[in-house]
Amino acid sequence: MDASILLIGNEQFHNLLLASVRKIQNLVIQTMTEPLEAMPLLLAQQQQPELLLIQATQAESLKLCQQIKAESRLARIYCIVIEDQDQSSRPELELRAAALEAGADAYLYLPHSLEAGIYDSQRLLQAQIRVGLRQVQTYRELMQTNDMLSAIALSDPLTSLNNRRAFEWELPRQIQNARSRSVPVSLIMLDVDFFKVINDTHGHLTGDQVLKFLAARLRHNLRIYDTPFRYGGEEFVIILSNTDAQEALQIAARLCQIVSEQPFAVEETLDLTITISAGTATLQPGDDAQGFELLHRADQYLLQAKGQGRNRVVGHKSE
Ligand code: GH3
Ligand code: MG
Ligand code: MG
Repeated sequence: MDASILLIGNEQFHNLLLASVRKIQNLVIQTMTEPLEAMPLLLAQQQQPELLLIQATQAESLKLCQQIKAESRLARIYCIVIEDQDQSSRPELELRAAALEAGADAYLYLPHSLEAGIYDSQRLLQAQIRVGLRQVQTYRELMQTNDMLSAIALSDPLTSLNNRRAFEWELPRQIQNARSRSVPVSLIMLDVDFFKVINDTHGHLTGDQVLKFLAARLRHNLRIYDTPFRYGGEEFVIILSNTDAQEALQIAARLCQIVSEQPFAVEETLDLTITISAGTATLQPGDDAQGFELLHRADQYLLQAKGQGRNRVVGHKSE
């Protein structure tokens, strides 16, 4: 496993440890002398080291442990505090307790023994680093599983579009983003017309195929930063970032046309022409931050489009 380790201590500390650390394979080693300089560096790095070896006798060493564990982006870093100098004025137990209380994951008391090249002290150091690496490995696997589960939880298995849960998570973020940048954001809510007839005439599996093809056609005809979601059943919602009311109406009208003008070849011998109806709405200054009012307006306009005969778009032009 590739991992990186940062040694923080004076030059003597680096020299004592480097020989042992280098024996561990696939470890990228960095060094620095000042604990106070570590935090800004770690925060600025895109990829932080997975392990730290910190010289206990450096002033500010334990404070660094505290700061790392208090910062959520860094807290997973495995911190080993190493006592390499004699501390006869304070008992080892007290030093160990202080280090662990400060947030160290491990504490090694090795005055003289590393310097003297005692085999077991090097062995202990390497064993402790390997404990840290095992934890790093477990963390990485957990993150991978987490990413996979998030993808499953947010994606609709039939159409591979993002699902309603993803929409409810994304809409408040888009609203906040639009407000902070003072740009418009709009929604299209669309629904397949007379979809029940397709199911009743050709069966649910054919209905499923239509939804799949429709989702693909929508996706291919949207700008890269406009995101379609399957809201539920045969209903879809699209977040149009940086888009005003007039543009939203135009985009929705174009989608209606793109869907209706070419049939869907769902099976070799079956071409189906479908139409959609859509409602569009644009964020207003008084709208709630979650997007409930915005979504409600888009839904109301969709209902109007259905009421007016389907295969059309209704939205508020002056929004
Ligand atoms: P309208 O023009 O008023 O929207 O009529 P509609 O027939 O499309 O609307 P209705 O709400 O009466 O029927 C929607 C149908 O969509 C009913 C439901 O069984 C079907 N449906 C919902 N989800 C799926 C799905 O995942 N697969 C299939 N095949 N059908 C679905
Ligand atoms: Mg419908
Ligand atoms: Mg519907």
